[in-house]
Amino acid sequence: MNELHSFGWYAARLKPYLPKKAFNPVPARLWGGLAYLLIVIGCLITIGMVEMSPLFYVPLSIVIGFSFASLGFLGHEILHGTVVRKPWLRDFLGAVAFWPLSTGPKLWRKWHNLSHHVHTQHEEEDPDSWPTFDRIKRSRLLCWVYKLPLPIRAFFSLCSLSFQFTVHSLNMFATYVKEFNPKKRPAVFFEMILPWMTWIGLLVWVGPVKWLFMFLIPLLIANVIVMAYISTNHRLNPTTEVNDPLANSLTVTVPKWVDVLHFNFSYHTEHHLFPGMSSKYYPLVKNLIKEKWPERYHEMRFDHALIALWKTPRPYYNSHGLIDPSNGNVYGTLGHGLQAQTIKEQLSTSLNKSKIEEMVVNPNKQFDK
Ligand SMILES: [Zn+2]
Ligand SMILES: [Zn+2]
Repeated sequence: MNELHSFGWYAARLKPYLPKKAFNPVPARLWGGLAYLLIVIGCLITIGMVEMSPLFYVPLSIVIGFSFASLGFLGHEILHGTVVRKPWLRDFLGAVAFWPLSTGPKLWRKWHNLSHHVHTQHEEEDPDSWPTFDRIKRSRLLCWVYKLPLPIRAFFSLCSLSFQFTVHSLNMFATYVKEFNPKKRPAVFFEMILPWMTWIGLLVWVGPVKWLFMFLIPLLIANVIVMAYISTNHRLNPTTEVNDPLANSLTVTVPKWVDVLHFNFSYHTEHHLFPGMSSKYYPLVKNLIKEKWPERYHEMRFDHALIALWKTPRPYYNSHGLIDPSNGNVYGTLGHGLQAQTIKEQLSTSLNKSKIEEMVVNPNKQFDK
């Protein structure tokens, strides 16, 4: 197997080829945020003021949901410090952008910037990594869940995308709040509770029917969009002892207009190489990576990545494989048998247990179709 390298190793080798301006903050990204904010406010006022059949609210609710998700992508970018550099302004704008998802900037920076980015795909240290087979074996509840057939589990996993971000965010609050300096804890708590208070206040103000269309349905839609990306970011990749973004991250490809709407969130490998760079420049980074390390780089069409997630089990087996505990079938991960270019063929033959198990143990061997 190719030797693993840290993100700093790759970044140092690409930096000389990138223009200096690529490392400056890009405040112009805020115009996109302002547009989304105005759309959300406009839709909220319309639903709040206009008395019509709830069917009329459905399209507005969908627009709010899509805008909530995009604001979340911008919030991610802002809190990496790639839009503005002043810490108070960064945190304020990040809080506004993450308001719909009710995630505070201090918590997000600890969970995402300082934990997920530093320990990506480390089975113990990355708060976003999926459990290993060994960890599942220790939990009776998970053992029971994983005895269900894969299509049933895949169906419920798909449904769970509609609330996974919100639940994970609350879980991260419970996990990390005690790690903050006691003097900072009230601020962390305040940043989490304030958005929820406004949304609950809205419920009291407009009543349950309008609230459903103004907040709950949009929140579920935003969860699905955000989690669809997040699920594909690393879950088809192996877990790695060295935080090597080319081995442990996946860039998905979407039509250009989707990238515009989602602030280039699809470029996840590039993001892990340069988290402090505006995503505006990630297409440039992508070209350089593909020139220098084409054999290490993983990219996949977004829909193909989602299909691959549907068809493969999640728990890790020996860090390079994915195991279905209900029948012991082992599937490869990216770079270890699961190839982006031939995803369908790989998946249709992936039930050949002994061959894939061999791939997991022997990653250099080419998969025989
Ligand atoms: Zn990531
Ligand atoms: Zn990030």
